[in-house]
Amino acid sequence: MTGKRGTSDGGHSHCPYCALQCGIDLIAVPPVDDRGAAAPEDAPAVRVAGREDFPVNEGALCGKGASAAQLLSARLRLTSPLVRDRRTAALRPATWDEALDRVARELSARDPRAVAVFGGGSLTNEKAYQLGRFARTILKTPNIDYNGRFCMSSAAAAQNRAFGMDRGLPFPVRDIRAARAILLVGANPAETMPPIMRHFAAAREAGAVLITVDPRRTRTADQADRHLQPVPGTDLALALGLLHLAVAEGLVDEQYVARRTSGFDDARRIATGYWPERVERLTGVPVAAMHQTVHTLADAARAVRSGAPGGAMILSARGTEQHSKGTDTVNAWINLALALGLPGRPGCGYGALTGQGNGQGGREHGQKSDQLPGYRRLDDPAAREHVAAIWGVDPDELPGPGPSAAELLARCGGGAQAGPDAIDALLVMGSNLLVSAPGAVQTEERLRSLGFLVVCDLVLSETAEIADVVLPAAQWAEETGTMTNLEGRVLLRPAAIAPHPGVRTDLEIMAQLAGRLGGKLSADPAEVFAELGRASAGGVADYSAISHERLARGEELYWPCGEDSPGGTPRLFEDCFPTPDGRARFVPVDFRVSAEEPDDQYPYRLTTGRVLSQYQSGAQTRRVDSLNQAAPEAFVELHPDLARDLGVEEGATLSVISRRGTASAPARLSRAIRPDTVFMPFHWPGAGRANSLTNPALDPTSKMPEFKTCAVRLEKTSGE
Ligand code: SF4
Repeated sequence: MTGKRGTSDGGHSHCPYCALQCGIDLIAVPPVDDRGAAAPEDAPAVRVAGREDFPVNEGALCGKGASAAQLLSARLRLTSPLVRDRRTAALRPATWDEALDRVARELSARDPRAVAVFGGGSLTNEKAYQLGRFARTILKTPNIDYNGRFCMSSAAAAQNRAFGMDRGLPFPVRDIRAARAILLVGANPAETMPPIMRHFAAAREAGAVLITVDPRRTRTADQADRHLQPVPGTDLALALGLLHLAVAEGLVDEQYVARRTSGFDDARRIATGYWPERVERLTGVPVAAMHQTVHTLADAARAVRSGAPGGAMILSARGTEQHSKGTDTVNAWINLALALGLPGRPGCGYGALTGQGNGQGGREHGQKSDQLPGYRRLDDPAAREHVAAIWGVDPDELPGPGPSAAELLARCGGGAQAGPDAIDALLVMGSNLLVSAPGAVQTEERLRSLGFLVVCDLVLSETAEIADVVLPAAQWAEETGTMTNLEGRVLLRPAAIAPHPGVRTDLEIMAQLAGRLGGKLSADPAEVFAELGRASAGGVADYSAISHERLARGEELYWPCGEDSPGGTPRLFEDCFPTPDGRARFVPVDFRVSAEEPDDQYPYRLTTGRVLSQYQSGAQTRRVDSLNQAAPEAFVELHPDLARDLGVEEGATLSVISRRGTASAPARLSRAIRPDTVFMPFHWPGAGRANSLTNPALDPTSKMPEFKTCAVRLEKTSGE
């Protein structure tokens, strides 16, 4: 395809939004339609259609994917660098040279420890890799992390503890169709990634039972056979209770446990204390529902052991992970899966439904604060030596592990006198922290007090609005790059149209900054991917046998795909787990309450989440008319009984107040939510910003903030 309107000949690509990475075809929009009407000047040169032959979505797209071409329109996006004028203090257009010179000058004027980089889970693999190299070898700073830390770092940490590696789904999405019992925990794919529901529907048509665990009766719960509705922050206790029942009722797959796992006795000992009546008191889930759930899973697991079709799966998402005990909670669900003998069996297993577009690949290539490419540990001398050789630097010169995302943000601002750990200059690539970070009021204050903030983005996000320099980036259909979807399948998104003339690719931006800072980085995506492959060789996430050419030929390649597995690995754990003894590990985890529980002052729980027509911070989707009309503003969902107690009617403005801030939005009454809990989606800035309320308390292992529960009080502000 070319960038000239009407000359495009179509091509395969993938949706720029979530981790399902639905297959799409790009179709040229002719300059003049059948009736002779000219296309508007700023209209995108392509439109999008679902790709029937891509097995993940089979032609289906949600509203976000279907409207993705609109993001390419000049009307919605940045088309020129912006710099903050020293005289007027406003952002004004600038040339690329002026903007890049200013960034280079500001970053090089500071001690590397006072400079930080914040990446994103939507960046391509090439960008995620290059950003880690840029931070560590050009800026020479240990301060780099990314917004995936806010997304699924708890599942990643838990899978690493249990399985010795972390790939969201260790099997292709289509395997879901083979299962006969599916437990979906803290996951609402009917809103976040609707096309995946066709696989659950197909499983149900074949006889599967779909059970959801969620404090809200979500759209997904509406499509399920059963719904367990625990108090937010208590599903760790629920998982322990189900393990207790599995043991007590003889449902454990003893042969599997003996042959393929270690550490069961310690996990079983803890579960002994979680008898069903106690768990009902802790979670609010009835004992009978627990019995029914564990028997449904165990029956399906037993059937597959005896050669019958089917299997059992436990799949989790952000509802399980975004807690100060998220890693332990995920491990509790994995422990249950191991006790029932699921991981590594056909049609069975545990998996995490990754959220962001490149949530999987984004965490494998070195933009995480503690990792190098190939999912290698930054504190591993052999890993440092391997990667340093590829980067042409002395391993001793590579910085060590840095602060995690929330810790990094907590160090921002305060000026040059704020101490050796203070960060005074921040480069943000592909994140809108003013909306998506926890404790957003405090985050905003810190970012506003930085000595220098530069943001690379497609649009003038809320974070870009307060930056000193804004660099407009090319986007999905305008640049070549790879994404790794939630199955670990590596996908090529080829450049299909010419970028808008005012923008540059993120790889070009990094290369041009590197040049100004005395270094050298490639801006060629195929070259960067080949280097990424070499850096990952022999690591857990081995991409070394994958190339843009193979992907362009349509080969289906799942990592690990290296010297030992050149055809890729669609299914993991069939023979052994990548642990020193080849066994999966039960991790002994115990329940603890959330960092902030309701009290007299803040008597309700707040839980946050997503809605169908918005994506993450909404920076892109709030600019697309069809999506914005479908979901124009934030809201506070509360149970009619609670609304009656408060004297609140549908549509009245309700203020939600936590220890960190206030958010106000129209009340939406629904019996889908527990009476002790209110829900807010987090996609909006301003008065309805849910993250003004959320608690930055961190999980000690994954450093995931506690987005999913905090204590609030409610005040009616209108609608009397
Ligand atoms: Fe895009 Fe995700 Fe929607 Fe698919 S489900 S069209 S990948 S946003």
